[in-house]
Order: sequence, then C-alpha cells, then structure tokens
Amino acid sequence: MPPTHGFAILTSMDARLDPAKYAGLSEGDAHVIRNAGGRATDDAIRSLVISYKLLGTKEWLAIHHTNCGMEFFTNDVMGGLLESSLETAALGAEGFYDVGEGPGSSVGRDIDWLTISDQAVSVLDDVRRIREHPLVPSRIPVYGYVYDVSSGKLIGIPEATEVGKASYGIVGNGPTLRCRGPVAGSSAAHPGGLTRRCRVAPARCSRLPSAHRRPLTPPAPRRSARS
Ligand SMILES: [Zn+2]
Repeated sequence: MPPTHGFAILTSMDARLDPAKYAGLSEGDAHVIRNAGGRATDDAIRSLVISYKLLGTKEWLAIHHTNCGMEFFTNDVMGGLLESSLETAALGAEGFYDVGEGPGSSVGRDIDWLTISDQAVSVLDDVRRIREHPLVPSRIPVYGYVYDVSSGKLIGIPEATEVGKASYGIVGNGPTLRCRGPVAGSSAAHPGGLTRRCRVAPARCSRLPSAHRRPLTPPAPRRSARS
C-alpha cells in the first residue's frame, strides 16, 4: 500500500527502536524496512526499489543508532561463534562467546555480516550505496541519521545527507516531514522527533533536531506585497 507520507525508512531491527514513535508516524504513513544494523543490503534495496517504483515513495531515510548490537562483534567473531555451535552465544565483558555444544558450521565465515564500527561512517556508506545503485533514481533524496537511544534524538549526518541528495526533484537538506508533535511542552513528549499537534514546517520548528531546521525544498517564491 502506498504510504501516505511518501517516504521510506531503513533502520535497525533493534527492539529498543520504535521508528513510528521517533519519527512521529502513524499507521500507514511510511514504509519501514528493518534488518540487523539497518544496513543497505541487496534485499533492503530491493524493498526500497519496490517502495518507489510500485508504491511511489519520494524520500528515504537511512537511520542507524547508537549502542547497536552490530558494533559488538566482527565478521571473524561471528564466523567463529557459528563454527563452534548453532546455540545462542552469551555476551560477556570481552564480547560474545559461545556456550553451546557443537557441531556448528563454517558457512558463516563466507558471509559479510556488515558489522559497524562507527555509526556515522556506516550510515554514510549505506546512503552512498543506495545513491549509487542503478535502480535508484537521482530524484529521490536519501537522508542519513543516527538515532541516539539514550536521548531519543535523531541526529542528522550531514555528510551522508550530502552524498544522498537528489540531483533534481526534492533538493534540500532534510526531509519534508512536518513536525506533528506538541508545539510546546515537555521535551519528553517530543524527543527530538516529529510529534503530534505541531504543524510547523521542519524548517521553522525549533523543537526538531538541528538537521530538520533547514528547509528541504527551496523556499516557494514569495508573493510580492503588492499582489
Ligand atoms: Zn541496531
């Protein structure tokens, strides 16, 4: 079904993340594509391509997050854990370790698990990968964000958004989302995201993250005072 807000979000499957909440979404507003780390895998891009080609989305957000589980292991560690057993590993002070009885499988050694060592870098890499994909039209802007799980804020990654900008169509620095939350009141009710009652355009809403403060679309030509 076409999402009413015309945008798609690619983000991590982490259970602490509620994209609907932090982006101020209601049911039917957006496509939300999730996987481990929110990485721009071939399958994530498959969903994004369907999202625009058949369902008309016009803007995409790639959102990684702080304290992501993908930071706590490497390809080598994952390969070793799977080789040791197929039971659930344990997490200790030194990282993950295997507690299961074998046999495991070495097949995990052939997989790139797309682990993350720096969220700003990973989101930049993913926005670039989406931007450069031959099936992604250059009119769709791709914005890069890191969601801070401790503060609940979306932090814009300007380098990623710059790489992901559209070359025509929607050209600017942030999503055309409207802030839909409380205009005033506690910041807890409006954790840097888009909340319910505020209809102020992102460009003018001081309660939005800094990346949202800049207009996405070039300002409409002003009517002259005389007309
Ligand atoms: Zn994650």
